[in-house]
Amino acid sequence: MRYHIDTIPVWDAMKLDGECLMCALERKTELGEAERYLGASVMEPDVRVKVNDRGFCRKHHAMLFSMSNRLGHALMLESHMIEIRQKMDRINDKLEKSAKQLVNAGLGDKLNGKAKAATQEILNQAQAVNEMADSCLMCESIAENMGRYLHTFFHLYQHDTDFRTKFKNSKGLCLPHLGQMLEVAAQELNAKDLGEFVQTVTKLNRENYDRIQEDISWFIKKFDYRYENESWKNSKDAVERTVNKARGWCVGKEPIDTER
Ligand SMILES: [Zn+2]
Ligand SMILES: [Zn+2]
Repeated sequence: MRYHIDTIPVWDAMKLDGECLMCALERKTELGEAERYLGASVMEPDVRVKVNDRGFCRKHHAMLFSMSNRLGHALMLESHMIEIRQKMDRINDKLEKSAKQLVNAGLGDKLNGKAKAATQEILNQAQAVNEMADSCLMCESIAENMGRYLHTFFHLYQHDTDFRTKFKNSKGLCLPHLGQMLEVAAQELNAKDLGEFVQTVTKLNRENYDRIQEDISWFIKKFDYRYENESWKNSKDAVERTVNKARGWCVGKEPIDTER
């Protein structure tokens, strides 16, 4: 499959010089998606069909809820709930049928005969409920976009020397994105480029994880009266940056330029 390569967002994220450029891209995509689902596009039939079917996870419902567009959220929920109830009707029918078989089996053994089949059917329906409870249209489209950005990253890494140099001098990557990057690099780069990329990231890992460690240790020292009058150095936001480095951006200052 040929991708349309849009290098601008990846370059923009690189220029921000944050703790992880992929975190910046992910957050930008997430905010864009949230606006999309509360905005006019949720009324477009194809978007509506997808929202009704997939819904959103806890984190993303909380995010939509915090955006103070209660009517937009309600409109989306109304038709999503219709679809949930249709699916639940089918599930309830099957559950009730199994329940009846089990009740009629009396003290029957759950491991044998009709009772066994009915118990299995309950597990099947539990799985169907779990699938409904786990699906999130936003998580899915973020993952899809991030796949494209990873591909674009390696396109730039291979063809744009400035980009490669800039990455070499960056603050590196958070753990989740480091794992993803190594996987994609192993698939997409030739032997020489892969070797060089891995040398670059291991160097970045060592230097930047050391830096974060120093910052968090200095932050703790600052609570000791003996260090009271010393400067905070670079440690004021060490807690946030350590969390974000270890698990991907989730706390503190936005990883993107929100002014633009
Ligand atoms: Zn990251
Ligand atoms: Zn989600």
